[in-house]
Amino acid sequence: MIDACELSPSYIRSIAPYQPGKPTSELAREMGLEETSIVKLASNENPLGLSTLAQRAIEQAIDELARYPDGSGFELKRALCERYNVDAAQLVLGNGSNDVLELVARVFLAPGTSAVFAQHAFAVYPLATQAAGASLVEVPARDFGHDLDAMAAAVREDTRVLWIANPNNPTGTLVRPQAVRSLLERVPPWVMVVLDEAYNEYLPDALRVDTPHWIEQFPNLVVTRTFSKAYGLAGLRVGFAIAHPDVADLMNRVRQPFNVGSLGQAAAIAALSDNAFVAKSRAVNDAGMRQLTEGFKRLKLDYIPSYGNFVSVRVGAGARVYQQLLRAGVIVRPVAAYGMPEFLRVSIGLEHENARLLDALLSALHA
Ligand SMILES: *Cc1c(COP(=O)(O)O)cnc(C)c1O
Repeated sequence: MIDACELSPSYIRSIAPYQPGKPTSELAREMGLEETSIVKLASNENPLGLSTLAQRAIEQAIDELARYPDGSGFELKRALCERYNVDAAQLVLGNGSNDVLELVARVFLAPGTSAVFAQHAFAVYPLATQAAGASLVEVPARDFGHDLDAMAAAVREDTRVLWIANPNNPTGTLVRPQAVRSLLERVPPWVMVVLDEAYNEYLPDALRVDTPHWIEQFPNLVVTRTFSKAYGLAGLRVGFAIAHPDVADLMNRVRQPFNVGSLGQAAAIAALSDNAFVAKSRAVNDAGMRQLTEGFKRLKLDYIPSYGNFVSVRVGAGARVYQQLLRAGVIVRPVAAYGMPEFLRVSIGLEHENARLLDALLSALHA
């Protein structure tokens, strides 16, 4: 290794790289398949694509691409303020919500501090924590879900961040709003509680609560949301955090001045207004979830009941079945890196895509 790399902090050198879903184009090259024949159910993308309103907004915004975007994201923030009934000073826009998660880590973590997260939780939490030089406090899961009592009890003197994914990816598990509130009541005020609600739009109405308004009572709460999932804009990278104004101020200081591009801002404003598209996305997801889970039952496969746009199914030898599905032109997500080597995570697709997956799974299991 070259000297400069060896002198990089050991907490950087020990980071395990994030493993994204395999791109369709890559599998097509590797297997000599037509891209259009490949079914990708690997990255929790919206199978409907994007809203036509967002598409039109992007087309209109193209003419201004020679200009820098609005670094303050004024119009997008105005739309978000209206939707969530919060102040613009509470908002932090990000290059995907991944970006705002990293901003939390940058602001609150450093060597000598720690962050609490759950076993099987979203991989970005340990990544962002480690990149900031902070220690990881991993709390064993309960039935694959976050054990919030154990997480609250794991908070140490040096803990500055506690990460919660609700629903969690890749398990799809949900903790009840009441349990999150009770954790907030127990956690000391110097611990920032990050409530990552990337899949919030997929929840049934009864389980969707106004968590941004809990910030008035708990200024150490940060709620994050994204345009990558139900809004169908994963390729544009737009997400945001809602926080106490003092917290948002610190996050905005370390953010890149132009971290959300102009096409992303324009598309997000339009997507936010397209309630019909989000409702349709949820309906397609509900139907696809039923189709897949009924298929798994027929195949006698266990799965973890999921509240997201994906479901993790126990196939035994995950790596082997994954490879066999690839050969059939179906991309899913291995989750061995999440401590779940027997599982594969399957994103919910359109009806014919789900059917392809179930067929390929049947063949793979009998191969
Ligand atoms: C997909 C996902 C995100 C964010 O993705 P972005 O595209 O960066 O907004 C955040 N948290 C969880 C749990 C996710 O699954």
